[in-house]
Amino acid sequence: MNNKLKIVSGVLTAILGIALILIIKGHRTNPSAPAPKLAYDSLKTIKTEPKKIFGFSADSFIVVTSEIKKNEFLANILLAHQIDYATIDQLAKKSKESFDVRKIAAGKPYTLLLEKDSVQKARYFIYQPDPVNYVVYELYDSLGIYEGQKEVEIIEKSASGVIYSSLYETLQTSEISPYLAVRLADIFAWSIDFYRIQKGDWFKVIYEEKRIDGKPIGIGKVMAVEFNHFGKSFLGFHFLQADKEDYFDETANSLRKAFLKSPLKFSRLSSRYTMRRFHPVQKRWKAHLGTDYAAPSGTPIMSTGDGVVTHSSYTRGNGNYVKIKHNSAYSTQYLHMSKRKVNVGQFVKQGDIIGLVGSTGLATGPHVCYRFWKYGKQVDHLKEDFPSAEPVLDSNKLAFDKMLQEQKAKLDRIQIKEMLASK
Ligand SMILES: [Zn+2]
Repeated sequence: MNNKLKIVSGVLTAILGIALILIIKGHRTNPSAPAPKLAYDSLKTIKTEPKKIFGFSADSFIVVTSEIKKNEFLANILLAHQIDYATIDQLAKKSKESFDVRKIAAGKPYTLLLEKDSVQKARYFIYQPDPVNYVVYELYDSLGIYEGQKEVEIIEKSASGVIYSSLYETLQTSEISPYLAVRLADIFAWSIDFYRIQKGDWFKVIYEEKRIDGKPIGIGKVMAVEFNHFGKSFLGFHFLQADKEDYFDETANSLRKAFLKSPLKFSRLSSRYTMRRFHPVQKRWKAHLGTDYAAPSGTPIMSTGDGVVTHSSYTRGNGNYVKIKHNSAYSTQYLHMSKRKVNVGQFVKQGDIIGLVGSTGLATGPHVCYRFWKYGKQVDHLKEDFPSAEPVLDSNKLAFDKMLQEQKAKLDRIQIKEMLASK
């Protein structure tokens, strides 16, 4: 597995490792049609109309649905439904120009439409390579083959949850799509470390669910989310700016926060990240996997991003040092402090003072050695390409504020019953 996959699966495990109780409410938001209030209601009423199946009137045929079995070929299926071998052979040849029958795979669903008479000869064979696409094979006359797409219905849903317990219970009670959990982790990647979400954290989310024939097939956009972490609420709102989808907080700032370029307000870069330098104390050539910023003793050192303190201790080499985990990708480390100002487990915001410049450990003079970790490996932060974090443009403010009011009102209406009940 590569690193990214590891992270994704790691995040997934971490999120699944926490029990979430959900209240899921579905309501359709179709901007064009005068939509019924509940998707479930609308699905029930559809049934009273003539039923269509892949564009055909279901009442005109005997409908057989199944899935392709192992070692089953189109020929086996069609021969069993009064299609002769010559026709099947012709169809197979013709299909090479469109959807080749040899691509038909075991485990995929198919539908047969049979004549409504005593012979019950097959008229159409419809194969579904995936939930959205289907291929229709006409089994008469010119043996037409064409592809179609099922209509994807978008339902707006809301969910909320309280993080209260263990992996075991999560797997028993959680109804959340793991994909939704991964999306939340992505949205808040710059402010919340999802490996450390804790008991008592809670969230509310408004998102789109994609459905075909009333069955959920996946998650669309996450429209708005409130995540309460360490007692602080983090808000995220989906907004399209310059044709790019992005998430912004309630003050119209992007959630993608860049790191501070330096942990000191006023500093002098005294030694760069290099694979080879002459160590001033050890008097030998070795890699320098950090960037040194010189400043007078006692100068405040800031955390370059939001995160959780994972280390606050002393070693002979590092002296007093602090390490902060910002998200699943990034951690930063600050060495040679004269004084540490934070404890392990503490949540810090970008710009918070975490310690003071000193020369403890292997250091010749007062400086902070700033180390940057990406997926567990040290990198040169000055060479990293961090995402830009442009706020909502003035020209988009009106549209943004309108969206914000609507989504905030919806979030406010979502109740977190479990949390009240557990108190
Ligand atoms: Zn250094």
